[in-house]
Amino acid sequence: MGNTLYEPITACRICHSEQIRVVLDLGAQPPANSLRDRLDAALPVIPLSICRCDNCATVQLTETVKPEYLFRNYVWVTGTSATAQDYSRRFFEESARRCSDHPLFVVEVASNDGTFLRPFQERGHRVLGVDPAENIACIANEQGIATWADFFGRKVAENIIRKHGHADFVFARNVLPHVEHVHDVVSGMGHCLSAEGTGAIEFHYAQCIVDGLHYDSIYHEHLFYFSIKSMVYLLEQHGLWAFDLIESPISGGSLVLYFSKDKRTRSQAFTQKLEAEDQSGLGLQETWDRFAQACLAHRERLAAMINEEVTREATIAGYGASARSSTLLNFCGINNRHLACIADQNPIKHNKYTAGTNILIVPPEVALSKKPAAVLLLAWNFKDELLVLLKNRYQFHGRIIIPLPNDPEVIVL
Ligand SMILES: [Zn+2]
Repeated sequence: MGNTLYEPITACRICHSEQIRVVLDLGAQPPANSLRDRLDAALPVIPLSICRCDNCATVQLTETVKPEYLFRNYVWVTGTSATAQDYSRRFFEESARRCSDHPLFVVEVASNDGTFLRPFQERGHRVLGVDPAENIACIANEQGIATWADFFGRKVAENIIRKHGHADFVFARNVLPHVEHVHDVVSGMGHCLSAEGTGAIEFHYAQCIVDGLHYDSIYHEHLFYFSIKSMVYLLEQHGLWAFDLIESPISGGSLVLYFSKDKRTRSQAFTQKLEAEDQSGLGLQETWDRFAQACLAHRERLAAMINEEVTREATIAGYGASARSSTLLNFCGINNRHLACIADQNPIKHNKYTAGTNILIVPPEVALSKKPAAVLLLAWNFKDELLVLLKNRYQFHGRIIIPLPNDPEVIVL
């Protein structure tokens, strides 16, 4: 990639076809996690748009940003979200019953703080996590979840086999959409899996992105927007067979696809979902063109709602300074002239400014102490959890603007 911060792709990352077409252009934006302490600090802007491959229909970003730049300040810790904690137990139950040969040896790719390995370990299974973020791997090890600080791929898979033998269950949650060397990761997963083993891949489902207008999930770290069909195609290139799936609440709509080396009978849930996907036309260019038009119309509606609040001279606070909120704010032109601040529970983000929109991030109690008349719920995918928090802990009374999914709506607490 030379010395540049980013590079456009000239071919599909999955099938290498050069027939790729831009679907939606969200404009040049700074990388979402480039939060700054000072407003005069330099900030790069990079084209943010998605394209679709005519050959394999995989939707993906048109640019690849250097991972060293994107992930240098990686601040997400899985264990902090209550939704993730609850879901980790369900994920364990669903996955364990699709595996034989208990007790299992379980490997997780990009295991973060080990939240999803913990339920396996608690029931007597052997676990190993691999995560590139050294600080987070360190936290996991301190908490008793064995974790290697490394980028998972074929080489690491070989080391795992040498030290621990083959895995009975290997999984990667919300990892594949974020890695450029996706073939190396899938190849590694297949390699370290035993002949009778089971694998699982979780990803934000393109059908939910299209149906719910999740354009805010498009940011520089999020390279791929997989359908079942495009994920099955990727797995097949590595001799892996998808046979079952479950739905996940993560990201506002994800899927967990289960796969094996042997050709197991495909579940009814799998075949029905795949058929529904086919019938909806998710793989077609025209579906994504319609999605792009709907995103532009959504931007107009949301901006009008925010401007209405500003006209009333209402103080507006945002809630949730995630990567997703960065795309939404930049694309819709909502900045520090509209929002007084953004509340976020993560202390690492406090007293920093959002990338490109210059809004100060503060703890929720500070944001709510400004007595905002309206709250823009940027972390709308945690809506249920946050509405309870706003009502009970912060005694918030006022308007809550919920930007997504689909049409923005206002509710009054
Ligand atoms: Zn392709």
